[in-house]
Amino acid sequence: SAVIGILGGGQLARMMALAGYPLGFEFVFFDPEPTACAGQVGELMTAEYHNELALEEFCQKVDVVTLDFENVPVETLRFVQKKKPVFPSPEVLEIAQDRLMEKQFCHSVGVPTTQFEPINSLSELKFAAKKFDYDAILKTRRMGYDGKGQYRISAPTDINQIPDELFAQDLILEKRIAFNREVSVIVARNGLGDITTWPLCENKHKEGILTTTIVPAKHSELDELTVACAKKMAETLKYVGVMVVEFFQTGDEVFVNEMAPRVHNSGHWSIEGADTSQFENHLRAGLNLPLGSTEMDGMAAMLNWIGAFPDHILSINTPKLYWHVYGKEPRPGRKIGHSTLLAPTAQELHDKIVNLVKELGVQL
Ligand code: ATP
Ligand code: MG
Ligand code: MG
Repeated sequence: SAVIGILGGGQLARMMALAGYPLGFEFVFFDPEPTACAGQVGELMTAEYHNELALEEFCQKVDVVTLDFENVPVETLRFVQKKKPVFPSPEVLEIAQDRLMEKQFCHSVGVPTTQFEPINSLSELKFAAKKFDYDAILKTRRMGYDGKGQYRISAPTDINQIPDELFAQDLILEKRIAFNREVSVIVARNGLGDITTWPLCENKHKEGILTTTIVPAKHSELDELTVACAKKMAETLKYVGVMVVEFFQTGDEVFVNEMAPRVHNSGHWSIEGADTSQFENHLRAGLNLPLGSTEMDGMAAMLNWIGAFPDHILSINTPKLYWHVYGKEPRPGRKIGHSTLLAPTAQELHDKIVNLVKELGVQL
């Protein structure tokens, strides 16, 4: 048995613990926020990430450390690594925290990304926006999530709307991709080099936030290449744990959007939908245990609940419908739970989603 320390105490940490308890693992979470929702299912230490005394105490309590939040400072991970094994490594985290380093890494291994330019001033932005035919997205290089810190540029005048303060941060301009669809590959790799992926996930976003995932994605000619790109990235990084790569697929090309050095929202369906969930395999990978099967029967849909739940959720109880309530205070734009639906075929899954949405009286 092992005690697993998790930096970050959000819903991902919570679901890791819920997957790890049946295997006999114990969990300690570390989060600056005293109301972090993982605290409802295990011991929560509340301190800032740079508090070395608190980190020291945390390390004494645990056998191995992982994270549920990719913006844990790299220095924190380096500090922890001196005391206890950490997965993923600080070197990987450093790349994944910075959209520029991430894209440069992709290029170094021959994996295509959206076209991009680093931006540090208004004049650089003007120049690059023109180069991308005024069809681009300005993003902060670091700390963005759920589409936060992003500005769409679709005309020269849009540049005037960018707040001056934004240029205090390192930025990146990406050419906008007119994609057919967005997919993600969930990869698990352990320290022995065993590697596996789950069936390809198709993702829909609204205002930059993931709303639904359908698995397996309808088959396309590009899928094999897409999965190969994600595996190549994990193998080159000697990645340990679960990582997720988000892709744009167009008619005949595939581009990496970004990677997440952790379990991911688009993999939540695997809790009920696959032989082994992303959460269990993340723990297995970090402890150098054999990885579990990632196969699934039929299809799965994951619906995110953002901002608020519909009324009477738990009284809606149809077969193969699963509710996950994270125990977070509802706030606009905040992910507070998800539902998973399973069905044997695409048609039955579609019907199930339509029926559920109708019964709940919501719009997806
Ligand atoms: P998260 O980490 O929560 O997935 P994020 O804040 O890192 O989100 P991105 O994944 O970069 O944001 O972008 C959010 C969404 O915005 C994408 O899933 C996609 O729908 C759209 N988007 C981002 N960049 C581009 C692009 N270059 N071309 C077209 N669409 C884009
Ligand atoms: Mg991101
Ligand atoms: Mg994303």
